Amino acid sequence: MAKETVSVVVSCYNEEKSLPLFYDEINKVFEKLPKIKLELILVDDGSKDKTLEVIKNLHNEDSRIRFLSFSRNFGKEAAMYAGLEYATGDYVAVMDADLQDPPNLLPKMLEILMDSSTNFDSVATRRVNRVGEPPIRSFFARAFYKIINKISDVELVDGARDYRLMTRQMVDALLQLKEYNRFSKGLFSFVGFNTKWIEYENVKRVAGETKWSFISLSKYALEGIVAFTTAPLTFAALLGILFCIIAFIMIIVIIAKTLIFGDPTSGWPSMICILFLVSGIQLFCLGIIGEYLSKTYLECKKRPIYIIKETEKDSKKKE
Ligand code: UDP
Ligand code: MG
Repeated sequence: MAKETVSVVVSCYNEEKSLPLFYDEINKVFEKLPKIKLELILVDDGSKDKTLEVIKNLHNEDSRIRFLSFSRNFGKEAAMYAGLEYATGDYVAVMDADLQDPPNLLPKMLEILMDSSTNFDSVATRRVNRVGEPPIRSFFARAFYKIINKISDVELVDGARDYRLMTRQMVDALLQLKEYNRFSKGLFSFVGFNTKWIEYENVKRVAGETKWSFISLSKYALEGIVAFTTAPLTFAALLGILFCIIAFIMIIVIIAKTLIFGDPTSGWPSMICILFLVSGIQLFCLGIIGEYLSKTYLECKKRPIYIIKETEKDSKKKE
């Protein structure tokens, strides 16, 4: 039987320090799997440090390594998509370069997928705790998962990492989703298939720094909501109806009061308060519509998800 190939897709942005450590670890894991052929796909997401150089050196040492380098930073979602497009393996894993996704889980994940009696198409990971994360960030992350699971059809698992192993069939399904605003956690769930979840304790990154700030995480959360549910639009409409009902009741009350007690025109402070409240809510709802409109705008431009500057094929040509 021919050897089965496992592609490991790694998106790298400023990971010059982590990459050599990552390569050592992944090597150790695959040395113990002689029946499996490894294809390591390193996607340089427009790094500003020496990541690309490190990748090229690794590629020269080890022909199992393939790489692509973007013309600028397109973000991890784009890097993951490019890597998946590029991968040729029968099974494809996506993981981070900072060893927060422990490579030594891969054999177990592979075993689960290859076991024909279980019929799983994907093995995903979630961390059971959030050690080493600021408490306020954990709080908002938990709140996000609670809200989005209530209001959207796709199921997002709290603590889920983007670390997973998939069959070729599932990868092909993912590649059919060509949207520009990519929210992978939702896309994985959207394509369906049987997923087995395995858990592990949170690990701190080996070197370098996380690229996520609180603001970028909030934006990411908003993207997830806009990409996977239109519930906020319904909410805006319901709020409109609610205010109409309140206004209607108020009109009747005021008319009745005037007829019964004469004309009690009392002060404009209450008027101003209502004016502010109502216009605030109107702007808020407009903002919600704006979010969806802006995403539609970006989507209909049909810009490419990523632009490649260089791949390992180019470096061969130069030699
Ligand atoms: N990453 C990327 N492009 C970006 C930001 C991050 O390819 O614009 C990669 C990064 O190199 C790492 C992974 O995505 O391999 C996860 O990034 P990070 O460790 O900063 O995120 P965290 O683990 O803190 O969620
Ligand atoms: Mg990380």
